[in-house]
Amino acid sequence: MVVLAAVLLVSGCAPVATPDASSPPASPTASSASPTPTPTATPTASATPEPAATTEPAAAPAPTAAPQPPSTAGVDIDSAASLQVLVNKRRPLVPADYQPVLVPVSIAQDGDEAVRPEVDAALAQMSAAMQAEIGEGIHVFSSYRGYARQTQLYNGYVAQYGQAQADTTSARPGHSEHQTGLSVDVMGTGGACRLDVCFGGTAAGRWIAEHAWEHGFIVRYPDGLQGITGYRFEPWHVRFVGPEVATAMHEQGIATFEEYAGTGSAPDYG
Ligand SMILES: [Zn+2]
Repeated sequence: MVVLAAVLLVSGCAPVATPDASSPPASPTASSASPTPTPTATPTASATPEPAATTEPAAAPAPTAAPQPPSTAGVDIDSAASLQVLVNKRRPLVPADYQPVLVPVSIAQDGDEAVRPEVDAALAQMSAAMQAEIGEGIHVFSSYRGYARQTQLYNGYVAQYGQAQADTTSARPGHSEHQTGLSVDVMGTGGACRLDVCFGGTAAGRWIAEHAWEHGFIVRYPDGLQGITGYRFEPWHVRFVGPEVATAMHEQGIATFEEYAGTGSAPDYG
């Protein structure tokens, strides 16, 4: 029971950070899956380790010209390259090992964080706005994660706890929103409540909950809506969906991407 509780504490995207983060909150497990090897992952990022240096994030390679099949919300939620791709336990990324165009995160971050160019630009804007209003910017501690790394993390949890329990903790490869390059796990630069639900109650967490939509982000796994999203409350996990969608969701009072897109709930793998 104690172990179960500890594991549930770090739901959804937590496994991302937990095994390779330096300060795992309450995880007795941090060991199993070998820590940080990220070989196949972030080619773009590894080429330019220094965030601010070489390339200008916003001016990245001509992005993602993807087909735009219609969806109930009028946006392309199917194409891996789409900024509105919807990935959850019922909707895998296709292809599962999709490799997005990435740039290094240009705001405060742990080290090798990388996201899609559009996301970095919006993050920089959001961090500046938060800094101006509450005197604290945004720090990214988890971002893009490749298929190989997700597989390694997930398999580590399965080996340790069995699949049923692993599924409450870690996304299966191909099902993690972090593989899209559109999601980040954040905290304030003050560092309070890193990867902890208490982040929602901090000044930074409250500001993000209130203002993220103004910059094209949503808090992807809101409190109490696990039955729809498949994940417990993760106030630190924000997803870029673009200003139009984020604004529409805000104005219509829609809390989850699933409801906005009209795809139905994704409480589990079905
Ligand atoms: Zn996350």
